[in-house]
Amino acid sequence: MWVDCSYSMPYDSLMSNATAPVACLRCGRKLTASAAAGYGPTCLRKIRAAAITAARADFTPEQQAKADELIRDGGIVPTARPGIFQAVSSKGDAVYLVHPAACNCSAGLRARRPCYHSLAARILSVASRRSLAKAA
Ligand SMILES: [Zn+2]
Ligand SMILES: [Zn+2]
Repeated sequence: MWVDCSYSMPYDSLMSNATAPVACLRCGRKLTASAAAGYGPTCLRKIRAAAITAARADFTPEQQAKADELIRDGGIVPTARPGIFQAVSSKGDAVYLVHPAACNCSAGLRARRPCYHSLAARILSVASRRSLAKAA
């Protein structure tokens, strides 16, 4: 039986060299699994948390509570259009189109400040990896 290790091509090392190591955009640590996002999992979590905190800052505590409830109850879902969500009214008798900056519910159309549906849309947008990669 002929065994000679020097004849076996190091395919494995060639393969792994083809992919350059990617560093986290925030801390510079080398990424493994979640390289597509541009950040390591810990940084991604921190960035998301900071983005959600920043989004909440524009809204009253009452609006924040309503937005949390809406998300928890599954009352807001993404549509086929990126960044556009559908939200069910609090009475359940109407469906609104919601964007992180606008909403066509009566409060959203009347008020100068965005309604809580918009906050819910912002929180959900931050939670999706695709929008985060785009923002970065
Ligand atoms: Zn990092
Ligand atoms: Zn609204």
